[in-house]
Amino acid sequence: MTDSTGPAPRRAIAPEADWDTAKALFDGGDGLVLSAEQCGIEYWFDNVPQGTLRGNVLGHAPDVVTPQLVLDEGPLHEALIREVAFRTLAEERAAASLSYLVLDAPNLACMEFYATQLIDETRHAMIFRRHLVGLGAATPDTVQDVIDELVGDDRQRILTPLENYVLPIIRDEHDFIGAVVLLTTLVEGVLAPSFEQSERKWRPLDPVMADIQKGAGIDEVRHLAVGSSLVRAHLEQHPKDTDRLVEIVRNGMHLFYELPVIEQLSGWEALYQEGIAQHADLLADYEIWPGHKLLDSTPEERIGKTFEMTARIHESRLTDMGLAAALT
Ligand code: FE
Ligand code: FE
Repeated sequence: MTDSTGPAPRRAIAPEADWDTAKALFDGGDGLVLSAEQCGIEYWFDNVPQGTLRGNVLGHAPDVVTPQLVLDEGPLHEALIREVAFRTLAEERAAASLSYLVLDAPNLACMEFYATQLIDETRHAMIFRRHLVGLGAATPDTVQDVIDELVGDDRQRILTPLENYVLPIIRDEHDFIGAVVLLTTLVEGVLAPSFEQSERKWRPLDPVMADIQKGAGIDEVRHLAVGSSLVRAHLEQHPKDTDRLVEIVRNGMHLFYELPVIEQLSGWEALYQEGIAQHADLLADYEIWPGHKLLDSTPEERIGKTFEMTARIHESRLTDMGLAAALT
């Protein structure tokens, strides 16, 4: 007999949030179906801090440390700090946009879910920022200036145009579902595949970076799933809204493909390529994709793969939402 006065037994961690069982996007995670009702505050407290994060707010276990070889000045260090700085800022801006979804949530289920997503994105920004300090690129006092310097023009060229497109829709027009569509396709739909690629490329060189990306990726897969469910449910009830939302996505994707993302990735990948050549012995057996050795991959191939994966996610998510017409 159980003692009725004892503490309630801990609920099992949901498999999609469990560090050991969560499926990556390209490993079945893209098929995950979750609703805002399922993923409220209670779900988050039950699953994210102890399941995904395993009690590690910084996204990696204390015994997982960054090796000296990426701390030393050189192309790998440079490639890493540029990527971390940009991700910090991108997460921060995503969090800022999301705050309007909390504000304009049409019901409590949406408000709860977006409040958790707001915490997730703010946490992602915080851990990347902390990692920049951990990499020796900045001190807590200088980190903001260092981020601005490392990100440079990419802020105005990549992040600002996206924000200028998304913000009026939610902040000025209070178009909640339009903003959900955009954040799910343009922000989560781009971040999630790039996290998975980045996790693979940094895994043998900086396990801290890889673990940070893995944990954030688990969050992004959930954000994508819930965002898609909201749009699908909305269109089931309001099929006449389809054309309008298709137009919003189409224009957003058009904008996205005009941004100098390839230029940015080319800069990061060129440094990475130079860096991995210096550590060929360490990386000899590492496969970036199943059956494909990292050392045999080129910057163009890795960028191509990221775009290919992003396109696949766009296609499956838009189809799943009922907005496949935006793909034509
Ligand atoms: Fe994020
Ligand atoms: Fe997210």
